[in-house]
Amino acid sequence: MKIFDIIIIGAGPNGLAAASYLSKLGKKVLVVEKNEEVGGLAQYADSSSSLSKKVIDQLGLKISTKKKNTFVTSLNDNLNHTVLEIDENNAVKFKECEASLEDQNNFLKLVKKYNLFSKTLSSFMFNSPPRVKSGNKSDLWQLISMGWKVRKLGKKNMRELLRIIGLNIADDLEDNLINDNLMGILCNEAILGSNLGPRSPGSILTLLYSNAINGSIFRNNNLDSKQIIDSLEQSCLDRGVEFLKSSEVKKLFINNESVTGIEMNNQNTIESSTIISTLDPKTTYLNLIGADKLDTDFTRRVSNFRSKGNVAKIKLEFKNMIKIKNLDEKYIGSKFIYAPNIKYIEHAFNNNKYNKYSTKPCLEFYIDNKNISANLYYVPYLKSGSHDKKEIESNIQLILNNFIDNNQLIKFEIDTPNEIEKKYNTSGGHWHHGDMEIDQLLMIRPFYGSAQYETPINGLYLCGAGTHPGGGITGINAINASKQLLKK
Ligand SMILES: Cc1cc2nc3c(=O)[nH]c(=O)nc-3n(C[C@H](O)[C@H](O)[C@H](O)COP(=O)(O)OP(=O)(O)OC[C@H]3O[C@@H](n4cnc5c(N)ncnc54)[C@H](O)[C@@H]3O)c2cc1C
Repeated sequence: MKIFDIIIIGAGPNGLAAASYLSKLGKKVLVVEKNEEVGGLAQYADSSSSLSKKVIDQLGLKISTKKKNTFVTSLNDNLNHTVLEIDENNAVKFKECEASLEDQNNFLKLVKKYNLFSKTLSSFMFNSPPRVKSGNKSDLWQLISMGWKVRKLGKKNMRELLRIIGLNIADDLEDNLINDNLMGILCNEAILGSNLGPRSPGSILTLLYSNAINGSIFRNNNLDSKQIIDSLEQSCLDRGVEFLKSSEVKKLFINNESVTGIEMNNQNTIESSTIISTLDPKTTYLNLIGADKLDTDFTRRVSNFRSKGNVAKIKLEFKNMIKIKNLDEKYIGSKFIYAPNIKYIEHAFNNNKYNKYSTKPCLEFYIDNKNISANLYYVPYLKSGSHDKKEIESNIQLILNNFIDNNQLIKFEIDTPNEIEKKYNTSGGHWHHGDMEIDQLLMIRPFYGSAQYETPINGLYLCGAGTHPGGGITGINAINASKQLLKK
């Protein structure tokens, strides 16, 4: 029987990145993946700007980091759409906009402010977060250096960051802007994939945090997510990583509070004293380990981790080439947003609170000839019952009828959060494996007692999106966790 230094459960972006990193350092790694294809939730991604040069270099990936100019088009009901151009340095320019010049300038000032604060936060992402009361010198030093980075913003900016960090995005936008469509664009970036509406406290923090991870406020399509996954897999294969695909891990063997191996759904077992789970924390602890092996208080924290997903993925195919009314064809490769104003988005969010899908939902999508690939929100994860997909389809058609000429839909496919959960075992079908809110971030992500990628079980580590810094195709969780593991 082959002996592996490390078994990694899950071949999403983080599983692949961890395998690539550890095998580069000479470790013998096995990756076990439930599905036939690797990539995990990144199979749903239409865009990625989140794989940083730092990660690409550390993994030695063969991906071009040359960025291109991209467009973001926010659809307006009156057909006066807003088009932004984002250049390779993330500078934003208005190409089309009905808002006054003063409003446009205020929008650019806001983006600049959010970028500045996100840059400060981004310096916290590439390390395992410190333990708050460990008494350890390196943790203390890290905490001091975090404080110092915020202080370095200068008095005025530091005050502003501390003022807005707990605020809702709607308040800050309404204080600075007049045009509804401009406010809708920034709301979309703040709340997509979260369990927040524009008026939920903390929605500015989500925007800053997501910008810090993605390296771009508009999560524009700078890198091809499929190319990232292919390149990650190839780097693993080149370094001798072994894969077991279409193999679901059913349980972890634990002896004397240490992990000793895995059992698959076909009853096969493989031994290893070091295992990394890239599954979300709830699935790892409650399904692979079981509450009976964990402390009661710890189990309560696992159960309280919030991971209700509310984004559905939809694929649409039309009979004809798609044209958007009153939009120059040169912008057809844009990222499109339909989140027209704060009130509309907040109403859509209200349905989510009561576990109902929004009858007037928001959309973020890309067009490819006759096809649309879209993220649709809010479509909440349901604990019981099912969504009326026919009604969701007709709600979307009602929206798209306003913007697409000769709109003849011939195919409609939807994966609700319940289906996402089923395909990838992601608790609640959540984009980030769990909400990215103040009480589930940094040194308390996913929760106290399981941060810093470690677990109460010796030899078992977490490195999926449910760990610091969160979701997205970043590979950061994987590198941070691997470094933590190698310290032992
Ligand atoms: C609808 C949607 C759209 C998204 N769009 C974007 C986007 O455009 N850009 C972006 O940056 N991010 C996007 N994301 C988020 C991003 O894809 C995830 O945050 C990221 O994939 C998390 O990576 P991961 O490796 O931590 O986990 P995952 O991608 O969830 O990978 C975990 C892997 O483990 C496997 N697995 C589960 N259970 C088992 C088991 N028992 N045994 C073996 N294998 C198992 C799963 O099949 C999966 O392959 C999107 C997410 C969703 C849901």
